[in-house]
Amino acid sequence: MITLVGKIFDGEKIIEQGTVVIENDKIERVSEGIDIPQGSEVIQANFIMPGLVDAHLHFFGVEEDNVLSWNIVNEIDVAIRSTRDMERLLRSGFTLVRDLGSKVAVRLDYLQRRGEILGPTVIASGYSLAITGGNDDPKDLPIDIAQRLSYSFYCDSPYECRKAVRMAIRQGARVIKVYASGAFSQGGKILPGFALDELKAIVDESHRFGLKVASHAYGKEAIMNSILAGVDTIEHGLGLDDETASMIKERGICYIPTLATYEVPFEVRDPEVRIYREELVKRHFSEDIRIAVSHGVKIATGTDYVGSKKRPHGQNYRESVLLSRYMSNLEVLRASTSIASECLGVKVGYIREGYKADLIVLKDDPTRDIENLKPNNVSYVIKDGKLYTGYGLYQE
Ligand SMILES: [Zn+2]
Repeated sequence: MITLVGKIFDGEKIIEQGTVVIENDKIERVSEGIDIPQGSEVIQANFIMPGLVDAHLHFFGVEEDNVLSWNIVNEIDVAIRSTRDMERLLRSGFTLVRDLGSKVAVRLDYLQRRGEILGPTVIASGYSLAITGGNDDPKDLPIDIAQRLSYSFYCDSPYECRKAVRMAIRQGARVIKVYASGAFSQGGKILPGFALDELKAIVDESHRFGLKVASHAYGKEAIMNSILAGVDTIEHGLGLDDETASMIKERGICYIPTLATYEVPFEVRDPEVRIYREELVKRHFSEDIRIAVSHGVKIATGTDYVGSKKRPHGQNYRESVLLSRYMSNLEVLRASTSIASECLGVKVGYIREGYKADLIVLKDDPTRDIENLKPNNVSYVIKDGKLYTGYGLYQE
């Protein structure tokens, strides 16, 4: 039994002085004031909150940030680096992450659940689903080699895409990731992804198996197609407008803007593409998020970090810091815990009786300064009721 005493954010509101009692892997009791059961281990905490969530990342286990190196990296290196990244995430305060396309995440999920490796709960998509010749298809390689090395299943037509969903499920996917668009292209364009009939088939097949669908969407057409197809979360969502935001709100879809990935300098050789990318990213920061907030859309934290030098796992709290430009610190904490967990369909993210004991202890209060979510402010992480030291008390 572990008892925590201190200021609490319970996933929804603040309790100025409270007690959390943990028995086995569950939260047994949360109460106001100090009320310590006899014989319990006690931690005096400055701030107690649910573990952080990253709803969109990739375990690529690679130093570089380009599609060719993501595909041709040595797969044993990927596994070893990703195991390291799992521990980094945990000790940085992350108890739940969702991987939207990689070669190793379903295995990380499996080994973490068996207690063989340290890390957050992983909701993994297995391979993502993408069109042939899309932006995650390294087109310098022959197609058979590209497909063999890729972290995506390439599928074209509703029938092939239903099969691709089943292939991902066969790998152990707990969510399905699709590309409703590609990325930025020449002449002020966005590369198309799946057509509406393909998206509808993917969503139908995924939902038949009880899996949510996460849709990479750049531009209004991709956002609209994702909404009409019935996806559960919209990833990136560049080019959101009032019409699409109100439909997202009405249907209860989650919006995961992945701001953290766009603050990282990204090398684009073609000047036309670079200018267009900069324009859309600028609009994402200045308008898209404000529109989402004004419509009351469910916004969740996701970084799109891949474990590279520029987007390293462990620094994923950056998304919360960036979101604090648009909402109060308390709302950011909700987006980073309870709302994100709900978007992933996992019953965590609250410090409430009966919930799984996935929570963190911080040295300083993040409602005062959101930077207090940084790794070296994390004293302890409790995952499945087990106590781990955070980077605030531990150095690599
Ligand atoms: Zn991504």
